[in-house]
Amino acid sequence: MTSKNHIVFFDTTLRDGEQSPGCTMHAGEKLRMAHKIAELGADILEAGFPIASDGDFESVRTIAREVRGPKIAALARCKKEDIDAAARAIEPAATSRIHTFLSTSDLHLAAKLQITREQALDQIGEMVAFARTFTDDIEFSPEDATRTDPDYLCKVCEVAIQAGATTLNLPDTVGYCVPQEYAEMFRMVLERVPGAKDIVLSAHCHDDLGLAVANTLAAMEAGARQVECAINGIGERAGNAALEELAAIMMVRKDKMPYSNNIVMEKLFEASQLLTQCISFGTAPNKAIVGANAFAHASGIHQHGVLANPLTYEILTRESVGYKGQAIVLGKHSGRRALEHRLKELGHKLSKEELNAVYTRFTTLADRKKAIYDQDILGLLHESMTEVANVS
Ligand code: MN
Repeated sequence: MTSKNHIVFFDTTLRDGEQSPGCTMHAGEKLRMAHKIAELGADILEAGFPIASDGDFESVRTIAREVRGPKIAALARCKKEDIDAAARAIEPAATSRIHTFLSTSDLHLAAKLQITREQALDQIGEMVAFARTFTDDIEFSPEDATRTDPDYLCKVCEVAIQAGATTLNLPDTVGYCVPQEYAEMFRMVLERVPGAKDIVLSAHCHDDLGLAVANTLAAMEAGARQVECAINGIGERAGNAALEELAAIMMVRKDKMPYSNNIVMEKLFEASQLLTQCISFGTAPNKAIVGANAFAHASGIHQHGVLANPLTYEILTRESVGYKGQAIVLGKHSGRRALEHRLKELGHKLSKEELNAVYTRFTTLADRKKAIYDQDILGLLHESMTEVANVS
């Protein structure tokens, strides 16, 4: 249980995010990101899926041993061996959670699991109770909840709560819902499921229709008090709800979203940048909150307005999310030091060799282009990092 108006941030960058194409990280990168996620103030850090591989098991265990602050969660299917592996992996953590899941839509039950609704209910009850023997913090997710028959979904939730689930996550696994519909599901569960008001309901949304953040907000308004999200919105297919967007909305629109959370806003930009160093793609320049252009003004009318009063075209300042203002514009006369300085402001501390590699590309680009903007610099950095990775 949590206080009425506090939103728990459940970060799944290292699980749902990491399992998506181009986002695979090695153990060292996962640990580095985990420390950053802790600095960012996430309440729960889902570190991985221990049964998936020995590597994932070890990496969850390392994070559990070394990262302090967030509660460390590990994912497990509703299977004994999965739950066993998850429990062993999170064992060194100061505080931990087992997150177990089973599909509940008829489509998934028939096509994927080949079990009946009744068998699924038994399995959920048994495995949630089994997970409870390791820790008293258990999250259960009925996978594909949004395409599950509503009456059956209520039954599933009731069984999970009775077996000891303390958080109930209702995922829009395929990113199919629209906001009103997603909110209604939460209201229904709160109204109809015995015990639902005494546990935490959680939203987990995918962005297949570009609605992950909107759906998450709708769930919050309907009573969800945990939001599952990932830095830069990474995750399966079109990704998960973006952590930085949810946090920024709650800050900028406190009038409409009067909830507290523990996210340290000034860390958003550097967390976003660190992630782009660990995975194989950056953020789109126009990405909300953390994109290189999110605070850039190019049109004359906008530039004039912002110079007169930033509020004319800015609803939050770049400083508030930790984005350092562009004090000097780089061009072909800029030296290595200026480039190094700007990269540092953008959150990237490079070795001498790395800086040299970026600088070589920089001078080539500066010969062709008058002014070099942040998105250019981040692009160059990304290109040279990819090259280094391919060579080594
Ligand atoms: Mn997911």
